[in-house]
Parts: sequence; C-alpha cells; structure tokens
Amino acid sequence: MASVPYGPDMGHFWDGIAEGQFRYRKCNSCHTALPSGSWVCPECWSKDLNWEVASGSGVVWSYVVYHRPFSPKETVPYNVVLVDLDEGIRIVATVDCPDEDLYVGMPVESKFCEETSGKKLKFYPLEK
Ligand SMILES: [Zn+2]
Repeated sequence: MASVPYGPDMGHFWDGIAEGQFRYRKCNSCHTALPSGSWVCPECWSKDLNWEVASGSGVVWSYVVYHRPFSPKETVPYNVVLVDLDEGIRIVATVDCPDEDLYVGMPVESKFCEETSGKKLKFYPLEK
C-alpha cells in the first residue's frame, strides 16, 4: 500500500481503511461520536476517546457538483457530498452515481474497493 501522510491521531483511521474497517472516534465520558481526526470531545472536553467501527451507512446532508477542474488532471463533473453517518458524524465524501441522481436525504452506504493504490472507501446509493 502507498504510504499515506497522517499524524498520530489518524493512524488508526488509515490502518482501519487498509484492514477494511471504517473507524471513528467516540468519547468515553459522554459517548459522543466524533470525526476521526478529533483529539478532544467538543461536548465535554474529555480527551478520553476510543476508536469504534462505523456502519458505513448514512444520508446525504448536502452536495455540490463541480463542472470546472481545479487542476488540468481532474475530470469533471464530479460531486462532493456531506454525508451524515448513522453514528452521528458528518463527513465529506463523493457518491459513485450519476450526479443528476443525487438528492438531499438520499440513503447511501460505503463499500471498500481494491485499487492499485490500495483499499479505498467509496459511497454508493443504498441498494434496496
Ligand atoms: Zn464527551
């Protein structure tokens, strides 16, 4: 796997991706779910955090579709989506579907895909 630059707080997250687990932080004091890079709980200020495994499913909170590339290497259009995970965390992602199919409130799920650069976590519309 290609090395991924990260600080000590993100090591468990990236190790989880390589092992097929979507990990996030959870406060041991008040049980608030936190984004993976968190080092202190914003609710109770505790630094007593644990790593949990997310279900990987959630709903689209908002999204944008980019039609202009930031660099010549990018292929447009592409979407950038805010997903509210079932655990209560909002993350930035992309959803692998036609952009015109996206809508706020769309149920999505994540799946691990093997690519030449390593394992990737991707979001897809939830299959019914
Ligand atoms: Zn807390």
